[in-house]
Amino acid sequence: MTDEAELRHLRRCVELAAEAVDAGDEPFGSVLVGGDGTVLAEDRNRETSLADPTRHPEFALARWAAAHMTADERRAATVFTSGEHCPMCAAAHGWVGLGRIVYIVSSVQLDDWLGELGVPASPVRPFPVSEVVPGIEVRGPVPALADDVRALHVRFREARANG
Ligand SMILES: [Zn+2]
Repeated sequence: MTDEAELRHLRRCVELAAEAVDAGDEPFGSVLVGGDGTVLAEDRNRETSLADPTRHPEFALARWAAAHMTADERRAATVFTSGEHCPMCAAAHGWVGLGRIVYIVSSVQLDDWLGELGVPASPVRPFPVSEVVPGIEVRGPVPALADDVRALHVRFREARANG
């Protein structure tokens, strides 16, 4: 179950992922929300535009949180994201002590989709977040928005294939 406020944040993640595709980046978007429900920061994938494969939005938000939030504020915060954190981003999330994660599509689901689309296997194994950060509260997947995310991955791959 996902409440209306959570769906709103997740829809924003999809918008950010669409902005990433429009800019030639991978379709991922994330929103950092404080314990009081305030949106604090958001980002999208920038791997291609910054020529750096570590420019994932979840990693960027973990760094933003380290720079701008107290430990208590980080613990109370939630990161909403279009796709479950990869191990790099999950580790960053865990190291800075952020709270809950809510994702639309799981890493395993995404891996299946990308395989169907003929994308070569990722160099990093798609571990579930909870295996990287034990004890973290994770909610997902959210099937109501999964088709929107899948469509962005298809659009991104088609755009890349067409140069
Ligand atoms: Zn990542």
